Amino acid sequence: MAVLGHVDHGKTSLLDKIRGSAVIEGEAGAITQHIGATAVPLDIISSIAGDLVDPDDFDLPGLLFIDTPGHHSFTTLRSRGGALADIAILVVDVNDGFQPQTLEALDILKRSQTPFIVAANKIDTVPGWDPNEDAPINDTYESQSERVRQRLDESLYEIIGNLSDEGFSADLYWRVQNFQRNVGVVPVSAMTGEGVPDLLTVMMGLSQRYMKEEMEIDVSGPGVGTVLEVKEEKGFGKTVDIVLYDGTIKEDDTIVVGGQNDPIVTEVRALLQPRPLAEIRTESRFENVDEVGAAAGIKVAAPELGDAMAGAPVRVVRDRDLDDVIEEVQAELASIAVDTAEEG
Ligand code: GDP
Repeated sequence: MAVLGHVDHGKTSLLDKIRGSAVIEGEAGAITQHIGATAVPLDIISSIAGDLVDPDDFDLPGLLFIDTPGHHSFTTLRSRGGALADIAILVVDVNDGFQPQTLEALDILKRSQTPFIVAANKIDTVPGWDPNEDAPINDTYESQSERVRQRLDESLYEIIGNLSDEGFSADLYWRVQNFQRNVGVVPVSAMTGEGVPDLLTVMMGLSQRYMKEEMEIDVSGPGVGTVLEVKEEKGFGKTVDIVLYDGTIKEDDTIVVGGQNDPIVTEVRALLQPRPLAEIRTESRFENVDEVGAAAGIKVAAPELGDAMAGAPVRVVRDRDLDDVIEEVQAELASIAVDTAEEG
């Protein structure tokens, strides 16, 4: 899952809020910091969401939030066709409304057919707002004055109208019956946490449904992922930060990575995760792991990665036919090229 939207509308704050609440709710160590992503387990989400989520209703392990590497890189990744996120949160400032990057983001979501919800952020800045820390939206809405509610309603309906102008049928999330046909709008505040329980609940519901119907994550098969960044790393040479969204990746696995020219066939030398902050003073910022399963963010060190490309596919070969895998990566790269050309 990724968070996108216009600059300053609150993407970072919202991620921080979710992470922060998760840290408070859980024991230390429950939240796993991945390369470029944060995993929040289901039991933590359900304790933030309170009565809104019953963990028995879900068989997902939790949510993996991709730390959006800046709007522009997201756009590039997305338009290159990388399956960067299964679902997305589009953040819109309730007072500022639709802005150029909001439209850009919508266009990407439309073209990639990524299911998304809209977080109508900064509700606490509606004049006269009476904040209720971390409350579900319904509770805090009920406790506002008539005038404040009216102001919020007006802003929300403007956002719904804007979405409709862009061809999305949208409504306040509690009125949406079918999230595949309609876009749900969730009023939130990244500052006070109001509406965050609702946002997490809708996200869980959406991932659950989408994953059940669209893809069975195969957690034991050969890994499939997307390159987020190509980076020089001291002691490792060129490495790639990837999001693994299916299967596993292991040390010594042969992998195929999309490159500037031909697909790169290479072997995993090391899988690297950031070290916990407390240990950061030790010799390396990273620690080695033998194996990682989806969904995860991980740094991969391997020879020959100089030509690797952000947004390109990564596939583990393992017991599959190497030529088949190369062909798949080539096909994916070709579709990326078409997408980029269409973009003009
Ligand atoms: P980004 O550029 O989309 O990542 O936006 P940031 O998360 O950096 O937020 C931009 C500014 O808006 C910062 O000064 C935040 O403190 C502020 N901000 C974000 N969310 C909220 C909110 O819900 N309420 C209020 N009052 N301020 C917010």
